[in-house]
Amino acid sequence: MKKTKICLIMAVLLILSTVTGCTKKKEEKPEDGYSINYLVLVNKLNPLPENWEKEIRTENFTNSVGMNVEVETKAYQAYLQLKQELENEGVYIDLDSARRSIEEQQQIMDEFSEEYGADYAAKVVAKPGYSEHHTGLALDLYLIVDGKDITLNEDLVQYPEIWQKIHEKMTKYGFILHYIDGKEHITGYAYEPWHLRYVDDPEIPKEIMDKGITLESYLGMVNETDPVIDLGTSAIYSEDELREMAILIKCTFAAWKDCELHSIRYAGDEASSEENLKWINSISTGTEYVKVVEFLMDFHSPKNNENSALEADHEYTDYQWWLGRDAEGSWEIVSFGY
Ligand SMILES: [Zn+2]
Repeated sequence: MKKTKICLIMAVLLILSTVTGCTKKKEEKPEDGYSINYLVLVNKLNPLPENWEKEIRTENFTNSVGMNVEVETKAYQAYLQLKQELENEGVYIDLDSARRSIEEQQQIMDEFSEEYGADYAAKVVAKPGYSEHHTGLALDLYLIVDGKDITLNEDLVQYPEIWQKIHEKMTKYGFILHYIDGKEHITGYAYEPWHLRYVDDPEIPKEIMDKGITLESYLGMVNETDPVIDLGTSAIYSEDELREMAILIKCTFAAWKDCELHSIRYAGDEASSEENLKWINSISTGTEYVKVVEFLMDFHSPKNNENSALEADHEYTDYQWWLGRDAEGSWEIVSFGY
């Protein structure tokens, strides 16, 4: 049985500014009155707008593996044109999944909760109402290679040269790649070469893809160069205290030449254990620590870093920073790395 792609997510924390109404509305109104906002942003922080499900028009068709697929009307027309152009060049694609209703997403969530537990389900399945697939504008492609349907994510990633061809062609038909590589901290999703997003106006995809930015930053929701600082919640430390620690890490990191900081996150109260305290004291060179705290960091190493111990041009995720507090109450960095 074919595995349905549900855009499995990485357990990436996402903190964006709480701006609402992230829209750049299009002015034109077609004569038949059908007008939706093709730049709508639905992600882990922004739910599907109310009435969207009533307003969109969709098309249904059956794909090469016999599944029914529903797509927003205009996105579907654009997809057919893209498909035709690719076929002329010997690249064969089909649609695995496009529109999913909030109800269907809830079903997926329930199935996962039942099988793996609610915590795991919440981590890997988009919350109903917060999946881009609700819009009908997100299209998950699969490939047909030598007459064979390639539908599983782990198989699809084996064809980077085919995806490159698709990504080159898609912009002129109004599609962008939303979950681009290295932007997990902004989109909340790992790289998904198959997840195309229709934004209508072909000028916009070109700009977004040429700049290598996310839809979030095109819409002004985030500044891609600003790191995300997530202090989480703690029953032990105040927000001010946690902020001070995050700043200490940020300042230390600032000396790492050409490294790009993406996020710093408080790892949680569980890391402040007796065991970890013992450990940092065992590696300490003199100071006796009375408290221990862990932070996690995502960052990107520079393309050229011959003199560094870091791997070149690499996205480091969940990189650990350990801090200790001495008897006088001052915090310092004791250790970092994996
Ligand atoms: Zn998808």
